[in-house]
Amino acid sequence: MTNKTTISAKSAQQFSDQVLSWFQLQGRKHLPWQQDKTAYRVWISEIMLQQTQVATVIPYYLRFMESFPNIIDLANADEDSVLHHWTGLGYYARARNLHKTAKKIRDEYQGNFPENIDEVIALPGIGRSTAGAVLSLALNKHHAILDGNVKRVLARCYKVQGHTGQAIYEKTLWPITDALTPKLGVAQFNQAMMDLGAMVCTRSKPKCDICPLKSSCLAHASGEQANYPQKKPKKTIPEKHTIMVIPRIAQQVLMEKRPPAGIWGGLWCFLELSDLDQLPYLLAELNLKQTATFALDKFRHTFSHFHLDIEAIVIDCEMLPAKEISENSTLQWYNLATVASVGLAASTQKLIKQLEQLPV
Ligand code: SF4
Repeated sequence: MTNKTTISAKSAQQFSDQVLSWFQLQGRKHLPWQQDKTAYRVWISEIMLQQTQVATVIPYYLRFMESFPNIIDLANADEDSVLHHWTGLGYYARARNLHKTAKKIRDEYQGNFPENIDEVIALPGIGRSTAGAVLSLALNKHHAILDGNVKRVLARCYKVQGHTGQAIYEKTLWPITDALTPKLGVAQFNQAMMDLGAMVCTRSKPKCDICPLKSSCLAHASGEQANYPQKKPKKTIPEKHTIMVIPRIAQQVLMEKRPPAGIWGGLWCFLELSDLDQLPYLLAELNLKQTATFALDKFRHTFSHFHLDIEAIVIDCEMLPAKEISENSTLQWYNLATVASVGLAASTQKLIKQLEQLPV
């Protein structure tokens, strides 16, 4: 597969003029992160918007900004609190990287977001497109972007072959976005390209009749919008199974903070067993005496790389004397009647909902 697109200065100018004129009339200008613009505010929004729609992000963003209005507040927050503000947004590595980056900026940049693109790309969790978005949208620096929306618009306009995840696809699209991004009005242009992808050149049924690029779009001209970008070949992912054990004493349930790496890293989850035969040993280790057992409804949680079938059992217990859990332990009793201030995975939230229905 070869991909080569040459764009003259004249056609780049025409493209950006069309996009900028459209933005004046139709672009989004009232999103929360477009007000009081700073690199910090734009950075948080860009990370939240990865794999998540604007409408979902807005309430999370507002709560996050209320608790962590600047980089120093975020850097000084404890990890549980940061993950708690992310509960429900998924892809928790994003939140852990945000926290790491805030600490790095506090410690190495005196709390000021760096303005050099190579330094920004070197920060945890920030790729070339996100770095370009933060620096262009917040500081008007001349950098192109290439997020999922922009990729789709450009792949259709220039009939670029391939799909996300293929090196050749990105390798072809970067010079295109670089060539098209104007020096003047870079912030508006980049915002407009994201808006066009989200509002007009949508994944299915693009609204070509109202698109400012319809006169030059190659996929539109040949009626091949649906072929660009190409569909990723479907791959089958493995199925795994786990048993979650939920020791319960009245309204308290025992939870465990997961290690930072791996699935649900840093989040509070229930204890896991691969086999129910291990249960007596686990209870003995925790010094708990089982008085009753309930099974919760089984369900499947799908990660990007595997399905996880989750079976959960609630073990009503009495605590035998002598087993104390220190404050810093990765195990804690969690009161269902109070709102958690820690990060919970979506599957843990589902189990808690089921637990709330159970008689105590
Ligand atoms: S004309 Fe249609 S396919 Fe082409 S960029 Fe516009 S919306 Fe997308």
